[in-house]
Amino acid sequence: MADVIADPETDPRATWAVDPSRVRDLTARAVASGAGGELRTQTPLTGAPLAVLPVADARDVAGAVQVASRAQRAWARVPVAERAAVLLRFHDLVLERQSDLLDLVQLESGKARLHAFEEVADCALAARHYGRSAAGYLRESRHLGVYPVLTRTVEHHRPRGVVGIVSPWNYPLSLALTDALPALVAGNAVVLRPDPQGSLTALAGVELLIEAGLPADLFQVVLGPGEPTGQAVVDRADYVCFTGSTATGRKVAQTAGRRLVGASLELGGKNTMYVAADADLRRAVPGAVRACFSSAGQLCISIERLAVHTDVVDAFVPRFVEAVEAMRLSTELHWGGDMGSLANEAQKERFLAHVEDAVAKGARVLTGGRARPDVGPFVVEPTVLEGVTAAMACRDEETFGPLVAIHRVPSDDDAVRLANDTEYGLNASVWTRDVRRGRDIAARIEAGTVNVNEGYASAWGSIASPMGGMKASGVGRRHGREGILKYTESQTVSSQHLVGISPLPRQSDEAFARTLTVALKAFKAVGLK
Ligand code: NAD
Repeated sequence: MADVIADPETDPRATWAVDPSRVRDLTARAVASGAGGELRTQTPLTGAPLAVLPVADARDVAGAVQVASRAQRAWARVPVAERAAVLLRFHDLVLERQSDLLDLVQLESGKARLHAFEEVADCALAARHYGRSAAGYLRESRHLGVYPVLTRTVEHHRPRGVVGIVSPWNYPLSLALTDALPALVAGNAVVLRPDPQGSLTALAGVELLIEAGLPADLFQVVLGPGEPTGQAVVDRADYVCFTGSTATGRKVAQTAGRRLVGASLELGGKNTMYVAADADLRRAVPGAVRACFSSAGQLCISIERLAVHTDVVDAFVPRFVEAVEAMRLSTELHWGGDMGSLANEAQKERFLAHVEDAVAKGARVLTGGRARPDVGPFVVEPTVLEGVTAAMACRDEETFGPLVAIHRVPSDDDAVRLANDTEYGLNASVWTRDVRRGRDIAARIEAGTVNVNEGYASAWGSIASPMGGMKASGVGRRHGREGILKYTESQTVSSQHLVGISPLPRQSDEAFARTLTVALKAFKAVGLK
């Protein structure tokens, strides 16, 4: 059904694809009867065809959910320590086999190898964290009962069943797998619909999980577009984890709301970095380059607004522009490129439309702004604008590309006002030598993560702490305690000893109420919570 079309004779970047059976093996893991047809993908690196994917229709998805559900019932009885051991073995495999994964991530997303490595590292972090911490997060806890001593109350965290994950194309390894790991270790099965442009990468990651010891039926992968395949997952899963745009997130939330199943939504952002008057520019300049242009800006937590204090703006801007101009564009399958390609034609068109609109309305291009077909079909230059106003689309809309606007701000208050002047609330960054001040500014910013003296990686990589969006950037969190307990239902089991919560035999209702009133006052007086 599936085939590799990239030709290693004419395209040296297709070297991994010499063996078409590899792609056949990968796509053979996907559930598809053939009724859903096929979908062809291309690599953004060259525009060459990459693979033919078997598409799952709604019946295929229903079958996948059924198989996963059956496997889940057995998996939920496996001790947490054994489930966690799978994650810890997966951690090692991801790091050992990284070269193959990096090739796939690059081929499917077009990003530079260093940025592909962020995904490998992210998988290892999530696997280690949940491998080591899941037992603690999932441990049952005793609570004070209604009658102290006589009521024994225990809170349990039961798996929800089948978790449906719909992941986007921009982080094909990370976003397909890191949200699945806590779901699995909590005792759930997963049905994953990766974006078509990340399907091979996701399948290769699942292959490693199975090699690490995960029962194969427990992780079902269905391939195909958002509609019908992604929608079919949302229509059937016991819990939905969606990552993508705010517009699609609203649709997913509507379906989940109608079905009364839980959902976490990781959506878009319009993220601000603030360079305060006392920032160390030797660190802030390269930090801004990383924050704005990693994965060519196709990163939900990427910085698209650069608020620079007027005291340092004239020192910061020329150094920043110089650093951006020194970046090496690359579509090679090896290390060394500072920025790769955009993912597809639509992404390129959106980027160019934002630049054109801003320039037509008076913005100045300090560097970049053009497509670079000499490097790759969807490659564009990292771009810095100044003079962006509210009349321009790129002021408030997410470009999701390598475009950043410099805003001059005369005070911390103005920087905070700019950061909060958006419907989104995902990520922010503050650069200052005074870390206490940085934290105070962070507290005033409406964003789910704020990095002080880093762009995005310190908060994202602090995997024990929750990550997600405020406002239109999402609902729920990934990472840490929240990132695993969302995949569970809390269940309270309370056993009552000796007496019931009712009048004793031959005690009148009124006497019972009086006794309980005295008891309640005593409970408060002795400090019960
Ligand atoms: P998109 O919403 O158009 O698509 C996201 C995914 O949803 C795609 O794979 C698509 O196939 C699928 N989809 C579409 N309709 C669906 C439906 N009805 N049911 C289920 N799935 C459906 O977004 P995009 O433009 O492809 O991705 C970029 C967006 O994703 C940006 O806004 C970005 O900020 C956001 N994003 C957010 C995070 C985060 O963690 N917050 C991470 C990555 C990307």
